[in-house]
Amino acid sequence: MTELITTRIRGTAAKLDMPHLAAHLDALVSRADDTQMGYLDFLDLVLEEEHAMREERRIRHALRVSKMPHYKTLDDYDFSYQPELDPRKVRDLATLAFVEAKANAALLGPPGVGKTHIAVALAVAACRAGFTVYFTTLDDMVRQLKAADAIGRLTSKLRFYLRPHVLVLDEVGYLPLARDEANLVFQLISKRYEKGSIVLTSNKAFSEWGQVFGDKVLAILDRLLHHCEVIAINGPSYRLKNRIAAVKTEVAAV
Ligand code: ADP
Ligand code: MG
Repeated sequence: MTELITTRIRGTAAKLDMPHLAAHLDALVSRADDTQMGYLDFLDLVLEEEHAMREERRIRHALRVSKMPHYKTLDDYDFSYQPELDPRKVRDLATLAFVEAKANAALLGPPGVGKTHIAVALAVAACRAGFTVYFTTLDDMVRQLKAADAIGRLTSKLRFYLRPHVLVLDEVGYLPLARDEANLVFQLISKRYEKGSIVLTSNKAFSEWGQVFGDKVLAILDRLLHHCEVIAINGPSYRLKNRIAAVKTEVAAV
């Protein structure tokens, strides 16, 4: 009799897309037995565990499709290494109010200060909160848009970059763009304007963006900066941290 019921529960759970219940029914029931759980507590346990597992699966999927280069959070970021950076400003961004408002965030500064790290941390937080995210470097996006344009598929490629709630554009300004390339970036940015967030990183101040975008620069900045939190990180490169420490030790030893 019990066997019949458990088989039926497993079957129904599978049809209801509750794989955790289907796979762990016995363990859940013995936990309930052991602790003499009431009906409500048991139901609560089953639903909570199913939901937690589904959330985990959703987040794993969201992270995979976001194409983020790695998984980093703000907890991994050592703010004491960048004393000029106000942690509150970054933590405010991590509340994702800017994503809700379809505004942008820009992280500016020299190499190695953690711009990509913070952009990824914000994007991970966005994934967790249920927003869709896509991560790309600016140059890669330009390459993709150009290739699509060459075969008459620009509209659908633009749509691809318009879809996610958060588009991370890493490394804006590393290479100057040709006029048609800058125009593609302009199209993307003006289409996303007030429709979805952009989180960008750049090693160039906005005043130097003319070197990158040529005569499109004002049109691009106009849309990008209308609603934008700007965080400038002016400090030492974290990549050089250990090397600098090693050099100091060597110097001290001499
Ligand atoms: P950027 O994009 O500004 O060039 P990255 O974000 O790539 O710099 O940072 C370089 C490396 O140093 C990464 O591995 C990053 O996780 C790490 N890093 C940078 N700043 C910090 C920091 N303040 N605390 C911990 N790790 C950091
Ligand atoms: Mg970077």
